Amino acid sequence: MQKNRDNKQRNKPLSIHAMVLAVVFFCVLPVRADELVNPFLQEGKWFKTALHVHSNVSDGDVNVPERMSQYREKGFDVVAITDHWKTSALTGLSDKSFLVIEGMEAHPKGNHFVCLNLPEGFEIPRDIEPQAMIDKVNAIGGGVIYAHPYWLGHTIDDLLSVKGYMGIEVYNSVCELAIGKGHAEVHWDQLLSKGVIIPAVATDDVHGSPYVGLAWTMVKAKEFSAKAIMDSLRSGCYYASCGPVVEDYRVEDGVAKIKCSEAAVILFGGQTSFGSRIEAKDGKLLTSAEWQVPQDCKYVRAEVIDAQGKRAWVNPILNPKKP
Ligand SMILES: [Zn+2]
Ligand SMILES: [Zn+2]
Repeated sequence: MQKNRDNKQRNKPLSIHAMVLAVVFFCVLPVRADELVNPFLQEGKWFKTALHVHSNVSDGDVNVPERMSQYREKGFDVVAITDHWKTSALTGLSDKSFLVIEGMEAHPKGNHFVCLNLPEGFEIPRDIEPQAMIDKVNAIGGGVIYAHPYWLGHTIDDLLSVKGYMGIEVYNSVCELAIGKGHAEVHWDQLLSKGVIIPAVATDDVHGSPYVGLAWTMVKAKEFSAKAIMDSLRSGCYYASCGPVVEDYRVEDGVAKIKCSEAAVILFGGQTSFGSRIEAKDGKLLTSAEWQVPQDCKYVRAEVIDAQGKRAWVNPILNPKKP
């Protein structure tokens, strides 16, 4: 989301430091996993991450250090600063228990992309084509998330017109609270149905301080570093939430199984009409559910909805029984 559409482009050349970093990144190009990694079957630790955050470097209400303090107080471990078209000075903001990742939100040709793991001073020309922008970010070791497609009025054709992004926002709390267009489950399912097996994050896209921490992404990573977090983001080793906790999710012997914090509804879903809705009964909330995945269901993903209507979204597992 963008509050102020008149942000001025910064035309400063890359610093020597940024150019050296760019060269280093170029030598370690990311490799996109062919299939998503199930975080519940992986070694590692969970980190609560905010991946789409604004400060007064663009149209947010506080400066970067104050924004970071707000996320620390809310129990976040990792925060990416993603101001419109601009990276930020982040020196001294990370420590052994709190990691700040450099990023920006770029919007070439009416798209909004959250770009992560950029060198400070990285610039993206405003007239760049969307695909060229994604390629440019990937080429220096960064990663791109397709932001709030419903809020932008984007269709599956728009989502399929570019490739190489590592995830989409299935939920953006500021777009939901502003105009009720923060959800993108339909966009996500359409991508998955078309064979674009991609994970989905939840973000709070914060501009104003009262809205810090309303949605997040729980990332399982092998170590506490930007590289490890980015590896997990690229491989889908995470789940998204604005409330519920997911404790386990897997498919065993053709049965999808989930364990979670107390839920009023648990959803399993695949392409088209494949899916199941399991509801709490007799005032007893659910903490687990199972679904026998049909043979022709290509993938199965899950959602947990608590008694307040808050959701968690678990990344899809491809159906091993699909011929
Ligand atoms: Zn945006
Ligand atoms: Zn934004």
